[in-house]
Amino acid sequence: MPSEIAPRIAIVGAGPAGLYCADGLSRNLPEARIDVFDRLFAPFGLVRYGVAPDHQGTKAVTRLLDRLIAKGNPRFLGQVTLGRDVALDELRRHYHAVVLATGCAVDRRLGVPGEDLPGVIGSGAFSRWYNSHPDGGTCPAELGAVRRAAVIGNGNVAIDVARLLAKSSAEMAASDLTEGPRAAFAACPVEEIVVVGRRGPVEANFTTAELAELGRLARAMPVVEADDLPTEIGEAGGDRRTKEANLATLRGFVDVPVKPVRIRFLFHRAPIAFEGSSHLSAIRLRRADGGEESLPVDLAVTCIGYRGEAIDGAPFDAERGIVPNVEGRVAPGLYVAGWAARGPSGVIPTNRTDGMSLAGRIAADIAALPAPADDGDLFDRLRERGVAVVTYDDWHRHDLAEIATAPQGAPRRKSPVLLR
Ligand SMILES: Cc1cc2nc3c(=O)[nH]c(=O)nc-3n(C[C@H](O)[C@H](O)[C@H](O)COP(=O)(O)OP(=O)(O)OC[C@H]3O[C@@H](n4cnc5c(N)ncnc54)[C@H](O)[C@@H]3O)c2cc1C
Repeated sequence: MPSEIAPRIAIVGAGPAGLYCADGLSRNLPEARIDVFDRLFAPFGLVRYGVAPDHQGTKAVTRLLDRLIAKGNPRFLGQVTLGRDVALDELRRHYHAVVLATGCAVDRRLGVPGEDLPGVIGSGAFSRWYNSHPDGGTCPAELGAVRRAAVIGNGNVAIDVARLLAKSSAEMAASDLTEGPRAAFAACPVEEIVVVGRRGPVEANFTTAELAELGRLARAMPVVEADDLPTEIGEAGGDRRTKEANLATLRGFVDVPVKPVRIRFLFHRAPIAFEGSSHLSAIRLRRADGGEESLPVDLAVTCIGYRGEAIDGAPFDAERGIVPNVEGRVAPGLYVAGWAARGPSGVIPTNRTDGMSLAGRIAADIAALPAPADDGDLFDRLRERGVAVVTYDDWHRHDLAEIATAPQGAPRRKSPVLLR
Protein backbone atom coordinates (compact mmCIF):
# COMPACT_ATOMS: atom_id res chain seq x y z
CA MET A 1 0.00 0.00 0.00
CA PRO A 2 1.46 3.39 -0.94
CA SER A 3 0.09 4.92 2.23
CA GLU A 4 1.54 4.48 5.69
CA ILE A 5 -1.72 5.17 7.41
CA ALA A 6 -4.35 2.49 7.92
CA PRO A 7 -7.06 2.46 5.27
CA ARG A 8 -9.70 5.14 5.70
CA ILE A 9 -13.08 4.70 4.13
CA ALA A 10 -15.99 7.14 4.10
CA ILE A 11 -19.50 5.89 3.52
CA VAL A 12 -22.17 8.47 2.77
CA GLY A 13 -25.58 7.20 3.83
CA ALA A 14 -26.34 5.24 7.01
CA GLY A 15 -29.17 3.24 5.47
CA PRO A 16 -28.96 -0.53 5.12
CA ALA A 17 -26.67 -0.35 2.06
CA GLY A 18 -24.14 1.90 3.79
CA LEU A 19 -24.23 0.06 7.10
CA TYR A 20 -24.01 -3.45 5.61
CA CYS A 21 -21.09 -2.27 3.50
CA ALA A 22 -19.48 -0.85 6.68
CA ASP A 23 -20.02 -4.22 8.34
CA GLY A 24 -18.37 -6.04 5.44
CA LEU A 25 -15.45 -3.58 5.45
CA SER A 26 -14.83 -3.96 9.15
CA ARG A 27 -14.65 -7.74 8.66
CA ASN A 28 -12.45 -7.57 5.55
CA LEU A 29 -10.23 -4.73 6.76
CA PRO A 30 -10.26 -4.82 10.57
CA GLU A 31 -7.50 -2.18 10.74
CA ALA A 32 -9.47 0.33 8.64
CA ARG A 33 -11.10 3.51 10.00
CA ILE A 34 -14.62 3.61 8.62
CA ASP A 35 -16.75 6.76 8.91
CA VAL A 36 -20.45 6.60 8.04
CA PHE A 37 -22.03 10.00 7.32
CA ASP A 38 -25.73 10.73 7.09
CA ARG A 39 -27.61 13.93 6.47
CA LEU A 40 -30.08 12.96 9.20
CA PHE A 41 -29.45 12.76 12.94
CA ALA A 42 -30.75 9.19 12.92
CA PRO A 43 -29.18 6.22 11.17
CA PHE A 44 -30.97 3.37 9.30
CA GLY A 45 -32.36 5.30 6.29
CA LEU A 46 -35.62 3.87 4.98
CA VAL A 47 -35.76 1.18 7.64
CA ARG A 48 -36.65 3.95 10.08
CA TYR A 49 -38.29 6.31 7.57
CA GLY A 50 -39.82 4.09 4.85
CA VAL A 51 -40.77 0.69 6.26
CA ALA A 52 -44.38 0.85 7.43
CA PRO A 53 -44.90 1.82 11.10
CA ASP A 54 -47.02 -1.29 11.74
CA HIS A 55 -44.23 -3.61 10.51
CA GLN A 56 -42.08 -3.45 13.61
CA GLY A 57 -40.71 -6.94 12.90
CA THR A 58 -39.06 -5.58 9.73
CA LYS A 59 -37.76 -2.53 11.58
CA ALA A 60 -36.11 -4.83 14.17
CA VAL A 61 -33.07 -5.12 11.88
CA THR A 62 -32.09 -1.70 13.24
CA ARG A 63 -31.02 -3.40 16.47
CA LEU A 64 -28.32 -5.34 14.61
CA LEU A 65 -27.26 -2.30 12.61
CA ASP A 66 -27.16 -0.20 15.77
CA ARG A 67 -24.76 -2.67 17.41
CA LEU A 68 -22.38 -2.20 14.49
CA ILE A 69 -21.99 1.55 14.99
CA ALA A 70 -22.17 1.41 18.80
CA LYS A 71 -18.56 0.22 18.87
CA GLY A 72 -17.21 3.53 17.51
CA ASN A 73 -15.63 2.03 14.38
CA PRO A 74 -17.51 2.18 12.06
CA ARG A 75 -18.13 5.68 13.41
CA PHE A 76 -21.49 7.40 12.85
CA LEU A 77 -21.40 11.08 11.89
CA GLY A 78 -24.98 12.27 11.64
CA GLN A 79 -26.42 15.53 10.37
CA VAL A 80 -23.68 15.92 7.78
CA THR A 81 -24.99 16.46 4.27
CA LEU A 82 -22.78 15.63 1.34
CA GLY A 83 -23.01 18.59 -1.04
CA ARG A 84 -23.82 21.08 1.75
CA ASP A 85 -21.56 20.46 4.77
CA VAL A 86 -18.89 18.57 2.91
CA ALA A 87 -18.03 18.22 -0.78
CA LEU A 88 -17.16 14.95 -2.46
CA ASP A 89 -13.70 16.37 -3.30
CA GLU A 90 -13.01 17.04 0.36
CA LEU A 91 -14.11 13.52 1.33
CA ARG A 92 -11.84 12.08 -1.32
CA ARG A 93 -8.91 14.10 0.08
CA HIS A 94 -9.47 12.56 3.52
CA TYR A 95 -10.14 8.92 2.68
CA HIS A 96 -8.65 6.18 0.52
CA ALA A 97 -12.13 5.25 -0.64
CA VAL A 98 -15.56 6.87 -0.61
CA VAL A 99 -18.79 4.87 -0.91
CA LEU A 100 -21.97 6.67 -1.92
CA ALA A 101 -24.97 4.95 -0.32
CA THR A 102 -27.39 7.85 -0.55
CA GLY A 103 -30.46 5.92 -1.74
CA CYS A 104 -33.24 7.18 -4.01
CA ALA A 105 -35.42 9.66 -2.17
CA VAL A 106 -37.33 11.40 -4.95
CA ASP A 107 -40.78 10.15 -6.01
CA ARG A 108 -40.94 9.13 -9.65
CA ARG A 109 -43.65 10.91 -11.58
CA LEU A 110 -46.17 9.41 -13.95
CA GLY A 111 -45.82 12.42 -16.24
CA VAL A 112 -49.54 12.74 -16.92
CA PRO A 113 -51.76 15.85 -16.79
CA GLY A 114 -53.08 16.88 -13.39
CA GLU A 115 -50.29 15.26 -11.39
CA ASP A 116 -49.75 18.45 -9.37
CA LEU A 117 -53.39 18.73 -8.27
CA PRO A 118 -53.95 18.70 -4.50
CA GLY A 119 -55.00 15.18 -3.61
CA VAL A 120 -52.31 13.54 -5.78
CA ILE A 121 -49.30 12.60 -3.69
CA GLY A 122 -46.22 10.41 -4.01
CA SER A 123 -45.61 7.50 -1.67
CA GLY A 124 -42.22 8.96 -0.70
CA ALA A 125 -43.76 12.18 0.60
CA PHE A 126 -46.62 10.25 2.24
CA SER A 127 -44.34 7.74 3.97
CA ARG A 128 -41.95 10.47 5.16
CA TRP A 129 -44.94 12.15 6.83
CA TYR A 130 -46.37 9.05 8.52
CA ASN A 131 -42.88 7.89 9.52
CA SER A 132 -42.03 11.26 11.19
CA HIS A 133 -39.08 11.94 8.88
CA PRO A 134 -37.39 15.27 9.73
CA ASP A 135 -38.54 16.53 6.28
CA GLY A 136 -41.97 14.86 6.59
CA GLY A 137 -43.85 18.04 7.51
CA THR A 138 -47.63 17.93 7.58
CA CYS A 139 -49.76 15.36 5.79
CA PRO A 140 -49.50 16.04 2.05
CA ALA A 141 -53.25 15.33 1.67
CA GLU A 142 -56.45 16.08 3.56
CA LEU A 143 -57.20 12.56 4.85
CA GLY A 144 -60.29 13.75 6.76
CA ALA A 145 -62.19 14.10 3.45
CA VAL A 146 -61.14 10.86 1.78
CA ARG A 147 -63.90 8.32 1.11
CA ARG A 148 -62.35 6.68 -1.92
CA ALA A 149 -58.59 6.50 -2.44
CA ALA A 150 -56.56 5.12 -5.30
CA VAL A 151 -53.18 3.59 -4.73
CA ILE A 152 -51.31 3.49 -8.02
CA GLY A 153 -48.73 0.75 -8.40
CA ASN A 154 -48.44 -2.97 -7.88
CA GLY A 155 -45.52 -3.32 -5.49
CA ASN A 156 -45.17 -3.70 -1.74
CA VAL A 157 -45.23 0.06 -1.11
CA ALA A 158 -48.71 0.16 -2.70
CA ILE A 159 -49.79 -2.61 -0.35
CA ASP A 160 -48.32 -0.69 2.63
CA VAL A 161 -50.28 2.43 1.73
CA ALA A 162 -53.52 0.51 1.17
CA ARG A 163 -53.10 -1.34 4.46
CA LEU A 164 -52.34 1.80 6.48
CA LEU A 165 -55.42 3.53 5.10
CA ALA A 166 -57.52 0.43 5.77
CA LYS A 167 -56.44 -0.51 9.28
CA SER A 168 -58.45 0.40 12.35
CA SER A 169 -56.91 2.48 15.15
CA ALA A 170 -56.76 -0.61 17.34
CA GLU A 171 -54.71 -2.39 14.68
CA MET A 172 -52.23 0.53 14.69
CA ALA A 173 -51.82 0.60 18.49
CA ALA A 174 -48.53 -1.30 18.46
CA SER A 175 -47.08 0.77 15.60
CA ASP A 176 -44.66 3.67 15.99
CA LEU A 177 -47.02 6.20 14.38
CA THR A 178 -46.82 9.49 16.27
CA GLU A 179 -49.91 11.35 17.49
CA GLY A 180 -50.46 13.48 14.33
CA PRO A 181 -50.46 10.68 11.73
CA ARG A 182 -52.24 8.36 14.19
CA ALA A 183 -55.10 10.86 14.58
CA ALA A 184 -55.20 11.62 10.84
CA PHE A 185 -55.51 7.94 9.85
CA ALA A 186 -58.12 7.39 12.58
CA ALA A 187 -60.21 10.30 11.27
CA CYS A 188 -60.04 9.17 7.63
CA PRO A 189 -63.58 8.12 6.61
CA VAL A 190 -62.31 5.87 3.81
CA GLU A 191 -64.74 3.28 2.44
CA GLU A 192 -62.88 2.06 -0.62
CA ILE A 193 -59.22 1.84 -1.58
CA VAL A 194 -58.58 0.94 -5.21
CA VAL A 195 -55.18 -0.56 -5.99
CA VAL A 196 -54.55 0.28 -9.64
CA GLY A 197 -52.05 -1.74 -11.68
CA ARG A 198 -50.88 -1.02 -15.21
CA ARG A 199 -50.35 -4.70 -15.83
CA GLY A 200 -51.97 -7.92 -14.61
CA PRO A 201 -51.92 -9.90 -11.38
CA VAL A 202 -49.13 -12.16 -12.66
CA GLU A 203 -46.81 -9.21 -13.36
CA ALA A 204 -47.48 -7.57 -9.98
CA ASN A 205 -44.43 -7.18 -7.72
CA PHE A 206 -46.16 -7.85 -4.39
CA THR A 207 -44.55 -10.30 -2.03
CA THR A 208 -47.04 -12.94 -0.97
CA ALA A 209 -46.79 -12.26 2.78
CA GLU A 210 -47.68 -8.57 2.30
CA LEU A 211 -50.53 -9.42 -0.06
CA ALA A 212 -51.96 -12.12 2.20
CA GLU A 213 -51.97 -9.72 5.16
CA LEU A 214 -54.75 -7.76 3.45
CA GLY A 215 -56.99 -10.78 3.94
CA ARG A 216 -56.56 -10.61 7.72
CA LEU A 217 -57.53 -7.00 8.46
CA ALA A 218 -60.18 -6.24 11.06
CA ARG A 219 -62.43 -3.83 9.17
CA ALA A 220 -61.24 -4.16 5.57
CA MET A 221 -61.80 -6.81 2.91
CA PRO A 222 -59.78 -7.29 -0.28
CA VAL A 223 -61.91 -7.53 -3.43
CA VAL A 224 -60.78 -9.17 -6.67
CA GLU A 225 -62.86 -9.95 -9.77
CA ALA A 226 -62.54 -13.65 -10.67
CA ASP A 227 -62.45 -12.69 -14.37
CA ASP A 228 -59.26 -10.65 -13.76
CA LEU A 229 -57.31 -13.71 -12.67
CA PRO A 230 -55.72 -15.96 -15.27
CA THR A 231 -55.96 -19.72 -14.74
CA GLU A 232 -52.19 -20.09 -15.05
CA ILE A 233 -49.18 -17.76 -14.93
CA GLY A 234 -47.91 -18.51 -18.45
CA GLU A 235 -44.49 -17.30 -19.55
CA ALA A 236 -44.18 -14.31 -17.18
CA GLY A 237 -40.58 -13.71 -16.10
CA GLY A 238 -39.44 -13.38 -12.48
CA ASP A 239 -39.92 -15.72 -9.59
CA ARG A 240 -42.58 -18.28 -10.64
CA ARG A 241 -43.18 -19.51 -7.09
CA THR A 242 -44.00 -16.03 -5.84
CA LYS A 243 -46.26 -15.43 -8.81
CA GLU A 244 -48.11 -18.71 -8.24
CA ALA A 245 -48.45 -17.94 -4.53
CA ASN A 246 -49.68 -14.40 -5.30
CA LEU A 247 -52.25 -15.73 -7.73
CA ALA A 248 -53.47 -18.26 -5.17
CA THR A 249 -53.73 -15.47 -2.58
CA LEU A 250 -55.67 -13.25 -4.99
CA ARG A 251 -58.02 -16.17 -5.77
CA GLY A 252 -58.69 -16.35 -2.05
CA PHE A 253 -59.81 -12.70 -2.21
CA VAL A 254 -62.54 -13.36 -4.79
CA ASP A 255 -65.21 -14.22 -2.29
CA VAL A 256 -64.49 -12.86 1.20
CA PRO A 257 -66.86 -11.89 4.02
CA VAL A 258 -68.21 -8.36 3.76
CA LYS A 259 -66.48 -5.69 5.90
CA PRO A 260 -66.90 -1.90 5.99
CA VAL A 261 -63.78 -0.99 3.98
CA ARG A 262 -63.06 -2.51 0.55
CA ILE A 263 -59.57 -2.84 -0.93
CA ARG A 264 -60.37 -3.38 -4.60
CA PHE A 265 -57.73 -4.56 -7.09
CA LEU A 266 -58.04 -3.03 -10.54
CA PHE A 267 -55.58 -4.55 -13.02
CA HIS A 268 -54.64 -3.60 -16.61
CA ARG A 269 -55.40 0.09 -16.07
CA ALA A 270 -52.88 2.87 -16.80
CA PRO A 271 -53.56 6.36 -15.37
CA ILE A 272 -53.53 8.88 -18.22
CA ALA A 273 -54.75 11.98 -16.34
CA PHE A 274 -55.75 13.26 -12.91
CA GLU A 275 -58.94 15.28 -13.15
CA GLY A 276 -60.43 18.04 -11.02
CA SER A 277 -60.57 21.82 -10.95
CA SER A 278 -58.99 22.80 -7.63
CA HIS A 279 -58.61 19.28 -6.18
CA LEU A 280 -58.41 15.74 -7.52
CA SER A 281 -61.87 14.34 -8.25
CA ALA A 282 -61.18 11.43 -10.64
CA ILE A 283 -58.46 9.49 -12.42
CA ARG A 284 -58.74 8.85 -16.13
CA LEU A 285 -57.60 5.28 -16.80
CA ARG A 286 -56.76 3.52 -20.04
CA ARG A 287 -57.68 -0.15 -20.14
CA ALA A 288 -55.59 -2.82 -21.87
CA ASP A 289 -58.24 -3.00 -24.64
CA GLY A 290 -57.57 0.70 -25.40
CA GLY A 291 -60.85 1.92 -23.89
CA GLU A 292 -60.90 4.61 -21.20
CA GLU A 293 -62.78 4.99 -17.96
CA SER A 294 -62.98 7.48 -15.12
CA LEU A 295 -62.44 6.45 -11.50
CA PRO A 296 -63.86 9.01 -9.04
CA VAL A 297 -61.47 9.39 -6.08
CA ASP A 298 -60.57 11.93 -3.36
CA LEU A 299 -56.94 10.85 -3.01
CA ALA A 300 -54.36 9.22 -5.27
CA VAL A 301 -51.08 7.94 -3.88
CA THR A 302 -48.57 7.09 -6.60
CA CYS A 303 -46.34 4.17 -5.62
CA ILE A 304 -44.34 3.84 -8.81
CA GLY A 305 -40.77 4.01 -7.55
CA TYR A 306 -38.09 6.54 -6.72
CA ARG A 307 -34.98 8.09 -8.17
CA GLY A 308 -31.76 9.42 -6.70
CA GLU A 309 -30.38 12.92 -7.06
CA ALA A 310 -27.14 13.96 -8.73
CA ILE A 311 -24.17 14.45 -6.43
CA ASP A 312 -21.65 17.15 -7.36
CA GLY A 313 -18.44 15.52 -8.51
CA ALA A 314 -19.97 12.09 -9.20
CA PRO A 315 -21.35 10.85 -12.52
CA PHE A 316 -25.12 10.54 -12.74
CA ASP A 317 -27.47 8.57 -14.97
CA ALA A 318 -30.37 11.01 -15.17
CA GLU A 319 -32.60 8.49 -16.91
CA ARG A 320 -32.37 5.90 -14.15
CA GLY A 321 -31.64 8.32 -11.30
CA ILE A 322 -28.58 6.37 -10.17
CA VAL A 323 -24.79 6.69 -10.07
CA PRO A 324 -23.56 4.60 -13.03
CA ASN A 325 -21.25 1.84 -11.89
CA VAL A 326 -19.78 -1.55 -12.64
CA GLU A 327 -20.44 -3.83 -9.67
CA GLY A 328 -20.34 -0.78 -7.38
CA ARG A 329 -17.13 0.69 -8.83
CA VAL A 330 -17.55 4.25 -10.15
CA ALA A 331 -13.94 5.50 -10.47
CA PRO A 332 -10.70 4.62 -8.65
CA GLY A 333 -11.47 5.16 -4.95
CA LEU A 334 -15.16 5.97 -5.58
CA TYR A 335 -17.91 3.40 -5.08
CA VAL A 336 -21.68 3.26 -4.88
CA ALA A 337 -23.98 0.90 -2.97
CA GLY A 338 -27.66 0.06 -2.51
CA TRP A 339 -30.45 1.99 -4.18
CA ALA A 340 -28.04 4.71 -5.35
CA ALA A 341 -26.28 1.99 -7.36
CA ARG A 342 -29.11 -0.17 -8.66
CA GLY A 343 -32.28 1.90 -8.30
CA PRO A 344 -35.21 1.25 -5.97
CA SER A 345 -35.43 -2.51 -6.15
CA GLY A 346 -35.02 -5.38 -3.74
CA VAL A 347 -35.66 -5.76 -0.06
CA ILE A 348 -33.47 -4.92 2.94
CA PRO A 349 -31.50 -8.21 2.75
CA THR A 350 -30.62 -7.44 -0.90
CA ASN A 351 -28.59 -4.52 0.45
CA ARG A 352 -26.80 -6.89 2.81
CA THR A 353 -25.68 -9.18 0.00
CA ASP A 354 -24.69 -6.23 -2.20
CA GLY A 355 -23.01 -4.27 0.61
CA MET A 356 -20.99 -7.28 1.74
CA SER A 357 -19.77 -8.10 -1.77
CA LEU A 358 -18.90 -4.46 -2.47
CA ALA A 359 -16.87 -4.45 0.75
CA GLY A 360 -14.93 -7.44 -0.61
CA ARG A 361 -14.17 -5.54 -3.83
CA ILE A 362 -13.04 -2.44 -1.93
CA ALA A 363 -10.80 -4.59 0.26
CA ALA A 364 -9.26 -6.05 -2.91
CA ASP A 365 -8.70 -2.59 -4.45
CA ILE A 366 -7.50 -0.69 -1.40
CA ALA A 367 -3.78 -1.48 -1.60
CA ALA A 368 -3.60 0.16 -5.03
CA LEU A 369 -5.44 3.34 -3.99
CA PRO A 370 -3.40 6.49 -3.29
CA ALA A 371 -3.09 7.70 0.29
CA PRO A 372 -5.41 10.54 1.31
CA ALA A 373 -3.85 13.97 0.68
CA ASP A 374 -5.08 15.20 4.08
CA ASP A 375 -4.54 12.94 7.08
CA GLY A 376 -6.49 15.14 9.53
CA ASP A 377 -9.72 13.91 11.08
CA LEU A 378 -12.66 15.24 9.09
CA PHE A 379 -14.84 15.09 12.21
CA ASP A 380 -12.66 17.83 13.80
CA ARG A 381 -12.65 19.89 10.60
CA LEU A 382 -16.45 19.77 10.41
CA ARG A 383 -16.86 20.75 14.04
CA GLU A 384 -14.33 23.59 13.64
CA ARG A 385 -16.45 25.10 10.91
CA GLY A 386 -19.64 24.85 12.94
CA VAL A 387 -21.26 21.69 11.56
CA ALA A 388 -23.28 20.22 14.44
CA VAL A 389 -22.17 16.63 13.85
CA VAL A 390 -24.36 14.11 15.67
CA THR A 391 -22.30 11.33 17.23
CA TYR A 392 -23.40 7.80 18.04
CA ASP A 393 -23.76 8.82 21.72
CA ASP A 394 -26.10 11.69 20.73
CA TRP A 395 -28.17 9.29 18.62
CA HIS A 396 -28.20 6.67 21.40
CA ARG A 397 -29.50 9.20 23.94
CA HIS A 398 -32.21 10.18 21.48
CA ASP A 399 -33.13 6.54 20.83
CA LEU A 400 -33.48 5.84 24.56
CA ALA A 401 -35.61 8.97 25.01
CA GLU A 402 -37.97 7.89 22.21
CA ILE A 403 -38.34 4.47 23.80
CA ALA A 404 -38.80 5.90 27.31
CA THR A 405 -41.63 8.20 26.17
CA ALA A 406 -43.50 5.57 24.09
CA PRO A 407 -47.28 5.64 24.49
CA GLN A 408 -48.87 2.52 26.00
CA GLY A 409 -48.36 -0.45 23.65
CA ALA A 410 -46.16 1.43 21.15
CA PRO A 411 -42.43 0.72 20.77
CA ARG A 412 -41.33 4.36 20.76
CA ARG A 413 -42.49 7.94 20.34
CA LYS A 414 -40.63 9.09 17.26
CA SER A 415 -39.35 12.65 17.21
CA PRO A 416 -38.45 14.40 13.95
CA VAL A 417 -35.90 16.50 15.84
CA LEU A 418 -32.93 15.35 17.89
CA LEU A 419 -33.76 15.08 21.60
CA ARG A 420 -30.81 16.33 23.63
C1 LIG B 1 -42.03 3.29 1.68
C2 LIG B 1 -41.02 2.15 1.70
C3 LIG B 1 -41.27 0.99 2.41
C4 LIG B 1 -40.37 -0.07 2.40
N1 LIG B 1 -40.66 -1.19 3.10
C5 LIG B 1 -39.80 -2.23 3.09
C6 LIG B 1 -40.08 -3.41 3.83
O1 LIG B 1 -41.13 -3.52 4.49
N2 LIG B 1 -39.19 -4.44 3.77
C7 LIG B 1 -38.02 -4.35 3.04
O2 LIG B 1 -37.24 -5.30 3.02
N3 LIG B 1 -37.72 -3.22 2.34
C8 LIG B 1 -38.56 -2.18 2.35
N4 LIG B 1 -38.28 -1.04 1.64
C9 LIG B 1 -37.01 -1.01 0.87
C10 LIG B 1 -35.78 -0.71 1.75
O3 LIG B 1 -36.09 0.31 2.64
C11 LIG B 1 -34.60 -0.36 0.84
O4 LIG B 1 -34.24 -1.55 0.15
C12 LIG B 1 -33.37 0.14 1.57
O5 LIG B 1 -33.66 1.06 2.58
C13 LIG B 1 -32.40 0.80 0.57
O6 LIG B 1 -31.23 1.06 1.29
P1 LIG B 1 -30.20 2.23 0.93
O7 LIG B 1 -29.23 2.24 2.04
O8 LIG B 1 -29.72 2.07 -0.46
O9 LIG B 1 -31.08 3.58 0.93
P2 LIG B 1 -31.76 4.36 2.16
O10 LIG B 1 -32.37 3.42 3.13
O11 LIG B 1 -32.63 5.37 1.53
O12 LIG B 1 -30.55 5.12 2.88
C14 LIG B 1 -29.90 6.20 2.25
C15 LIG B 1 -29.34 7.10 3.36
O13 LIG B 1 -28.54 8.11 2.75
C16 LIG B 1 -28.77 9.34 3.42
N5 LIG B 1 -28.45 10.43 2.47
C17 LIG B 1 -29.07 10.73 1.32
N6 LIG B 1 -28.48 11.79 0.73
C18 LIG B 1 -27.46 12.17 1.53
C19 LIG B 1 -26.47 13.22 1.48
N7 LIG B 1 -26.42 14.09 0.44
N8 LIG B 1 -25.59 13.32 2.48
C20 LIG B 1 -25.62 12.45 3.53
N9 LIG B 1 -26.52 11.44 3.63
C21 LIG B 1 -27.42 11.30 2.65
C22 LIG B 1 -30.25 9.29 3.76
O14 LIG B 1 -30.57 10.19 4.82
C23 LIG B 1 -30.43 7.83 4.16
O15 LIG B 1 -30.24 7.63 5.54
C24 LIG B 1 -39.16 0.04 1.65
C25 LIG B 1 -38.89 1.22 0.94
C26 LIG B 1 -39.81 2.26 0.96
C27 LIG B 1 -39.52 3.51 0.18
